[in-house]
Amino acid sequence: ALTGRVLVPEKLDSDGVALLERAGLEVVCKYDLTEDELSAVLGDFDALIVRSGTKVTRSLLEKANATRLRVIGRAGVGVDNIDLAAASERGIVVVNAPTGNCIAAAEHTVALLLALARNIAAADATIKGDQWNRNKFVGVSLVDKTLGVCGFGRIGREVARRCRALGMRILAYDPYCAVEVTRAVGAELCSSLDELLRVSDFVTVHMPLTESTENMIDRNALSKCKDGVRILNVARGGIVDEVALLEALESGKVAGAALDVFVQEPPHKYPGSPSEKVAKHPRVVATPHLGASTVEAQLDVALEVAEAVITALRG
Ligand code: NAD
Repeated sequence: ALTGRVLVPEKLDSDGVALLERAGLEVVCKYDLTEDELSAVLGDFDALIVRSGTKVTRSLLEKANATRLRVIGRAGVGVDNIDLAAASERGIVVVNAPTGNCIAAAEHTVALLLALARNIAAADATIKGDQWNRNKFVGVSLVDKTLGVCGFGRIGREVARRCRALGMRILAYDPYCAVEVTRAVGAELCSSLDELLRVSDFVTVHMPLTESTENMIDRNALSKCKDGVRILNVARGGIVDEVALLEALESGKVAGAALDVFVQEPPHKYPGSPSEKVAKHPRVVATPHLGASTVEAQLDVALEVAEAVITALRG
């Protein structure tokens, strides 16, 4: 059996915790810690398991003097909330759960796509305010429309598969993706982002947030889109430039957007920020980072990250 202590500062499914304990580890779940509280206790742990809410920065690792820490587990896909360089300099291994929430994120994207096309959220809000307004919410159809999928990894492919079933034409842009992969799900591979943007009625992004994908959908990219394009971001805040998106919503270039993620989360805690403005825009349907939030995905991700942490601690 392993020995070691694991700190869990964000909700992790109890089956994941049980798996760690069965391996011999002591698990301490302490939620809603401030950065100071986290740095005060982190030095006493061999592993840390976070979701997306905890920012594992260089300064946190330094302040905590986390010499005992050997593994950081991320219960989900994106590791952009962890300073990978700072971790690796300290010999800390970073592991994630790359598959557990892909279907959940793809399903959420499809839910937002339908909500966007048919104004579901805005219509629901008016009917709850005792209005019956049918003219205001004329939607657009999805059949025969073109969906541009930027980033054709696990989630992008699952989105494509599902949207094919809705009768959509699917274009893919991903410089690291082979044409066989796109063909297998009935999508067409574009050789450039511009080619995808020029003809897509809906554009959805599914790449990790990195230096090269940050602001990939910026003012210049939006200017290349069809008039009345609709934009979806269920990947990471900052891949779509929020200032440029606001401008394009105002000018009418962009007819609507569906956003699950924001540069500043939660947006209302940053009053006046582009994140808040875009989240509250009347032609935007917004959800609070719910992509991975299904019962099934939270269980799968907890087990997957627990396994990965155990493997890493075994060395
Ligand atoms: P993945 O690694 O399987 O796929 C990412 C794809 O992006 C890869 O195919 C890669 O080649 C491509 N890519 C990288 N750089 C690119 C670029 N410059 N241009 C175009 N494509 C590029 O990851 P995934 O499982 O599909 O997840 C994608 C992202 O979705 C994650 O990184 C995460 O940030 C986000 N995500 C969000 C939620 C949520 O709750 N909203 C849930 C899960 C994942």
